[in-house]
Amino acid sequence: MVETKLDNVLEAFLTYETYKGYGHYGVTGLEKFRYRTWVENNNPGVDCTQPTGYIDSKIGTSIHMLFEEAMNASDIVCQTERVYECDIAGYKVGGTADLILYDDKDVATIADLKSMKAFPAKKAYANEETDKFIKQLSLYAYMHRKGGGKTNKVGYIYVVVVGWTARDKAIPRTFRLDLPLMSDAEVEEYVSSRIEAIPKDGSAPEFDCQSWMCKQYCGVRDVCPHFNHHEFKEGYVRPSN
Ligand code: SF4
Repeated sequence: MVETKLDNVLEAFLTYETYKGYGHYGVTGLEKFRYRTWVENNNPGVDCTQPTGYIDSKIGTSIHMLFEEAMNASDIVCQTERVYECDIAGYKVGGTADLILYDDKDVATIADLKSMKAFPAKKAYANEETDKFIKQLSLYAYMHRKGGGKTNKVGYIYVVVVGWTARDKAIPRTFRLDLPLMSDAEVEEYVSSRIEAIPKDGSAPEFDCQSWMCKQYCGVRDVCPHFNHHEFKEGYVRPSN
């Protein structure tokens, strides 16, 4: 097949990043595996995203943009894409909440929109693996309160199932999870424990990746000591099988 300029444009489109980070530590980054973060930090320039990851991220961004437009056009009292930055347990943390809903007493309910494929959506619908959502929403709620606002004790995750088909009829195409949020003390303990899990002397943190991620999703596996059973060496090239 002959490669054309349009192929390059499409490649560039897929990798074009609109994400903007806030604070020294991003809210969603805190939940990432510490071991993988360490591998990434030790391999600057290694692309950590698989091609399917770029496509999924484009789908997610498009859904978020449409959702934001629809919310802003509605008469629901809310803020979309609310940016927070705050000191938590001595660390500068920041992030962007998708949606803040306000009641008539100005109490904010923190909400986030998640586009998911059927498999993770089924887990979320069964209330499995929702801890990471609770942490994310709790951090935004904490920062909202530190800014002087009042918050609901429950946060919402709105799930949109991408590629829903009749085979997935056990779950709705879209649903809401109502999640009880963490206290201030729990948020502070979570933030410091996640940040302190990366040793300051540059050595590897305790291994905490889930092994199913290695082959399917991890873009740094070629340079990962765990995956290669090999410690880092300058210029190390993984032997071919
Ligand atoms: S290859 Fe596996 S163990 Fe290594 S960083 Fe990636 S997910 Fe973690």
